[in-house]
Amino acid sequence: MINVTKPFFPRQDLFQRYIDGIWQRGWITNHGPLVNELELRLKEYLNVPHLLYLNNGTIAIQIAIKALELHGEVITTPFSYVATTSSLVWENCTPVFADIDPDSLNIDPVSVESLITDRTTGILATHVFGNPCDVEALKKIADQHKLKIIYDAAHCFGTTYKGAPIFNYGDISTTSFHATKLFHTAEGGAVFTQNAELLKKMAYLRNFGHETPTSFAMVGINGKNSELHAAVGLSLLPHIGEILSKRKEQYKYYNDKLCNLQVERQKLVDPEGYNYSYYPILFSSEGLLERSIAELNKYNIFPRRYFYPSLNRLGYVERQDCPVSESISSRILCLPLFHDLSEEEIDMIARLLLRVQNN
Ligand SMILES: *Cc1c(COP(=O)(O)O)cnc(C)c1O
Repeated sequence: MINVTKPFFPRQDLFQRYIDGIWQRGWITNHGPLVNELELRLKEYLNVPHLLYLNNGTIAIQIAIKALELHGEVITTPFSYVATTSSLVWENCTPVFADIDPDSLNIDPVSVESLITDRTTGILATHVFGNPCDVEALKKIADQHKLKIIYDAAHCFGTTYKGAPIFNYGDISTTSFHATKLFHTAEGGAVFTQNAELLKKMAYLRNFGHETPTSFAMVGINGKNSELHAAVGLSLLPHIGEILSKRKEQYKYYNDKLCNLQVERQKLVDPEGYNYSYYPILFSSEGLLERSIAELNKYNIFPRRYFYPSLNRLGYVERQDCPVSESISSRILCLPLFHDLSEEEIDMIARLLLRVQNN
């Protein structure tokens, strides 16, 4: 069976060494030495000033919303994973959907600006498939209207924009280290900010609001992650260079094999800084997409419809139209891409897709 992704397992001897340390210390969670070490190593690797390691990428978005005190309306993208929208609703904000740009697949700044009202407090945008949003235009709009920006950068491990880490953009950036992501800790996530005050606030939010064992600075939640999860991340980090270069090769191999497939591609804003996190293709019709999925499934190949449905169509949000996102969401497919996907497997996927197209 070939799935859209497959978790990378680090060398077991590396992992075992960290686990032995956990057993010796008898310290399994609550800001232990491995969590601290992972935060330090990630800051170095990603070249970011601050980050907080959290238990998942959804809590990361919720903590960011709380820290920035967003309320009322938040302008967001309909083309993302459901957690982007559900976090807003969970935090009692009203998601207002700005349509996306059909080339980058990211939120369209012109549409964002047209939706600002006196109830708007922020923008929550996703760098879709690791492709940076129009961060300059969004910053300009946010500054003009005194809005906060959160970037859901769940797909962006290792992505740079104009040479700088994409996590440095926005008031806060969030990411996910879920097992399906390029770098993972089984479950996990992080928040990033350049602002020391915000960092301190998010540290309280992560730990129930504890100031001391007996006093509380604010309402908090449990956003901590464990030593066991940090151990997965620490033993995976030495492999990350090899993971990234392998994906780049596989991505190029797909491009070669699929050069005769009549599909559109996401336009990369900064190809130099791309992390090759996904391999999406956009069919000309939903029918062709469905026939392609059915053919691949016959051979036990399971690509995923990222992202479907368009989030403005969720049953729990107010009805809003986003024709570009709805159209793309009905036609886009992410093909399998993971560290040990072989060239023979890519050959087969390509052959099946071409067969459907030429039938
Ligand atoms: C994976 C993902 C999330 C959720 O992260 P979890 O760690 O699974 O909670 C949020 N947003 C996007 C865009 C994602 O891809």
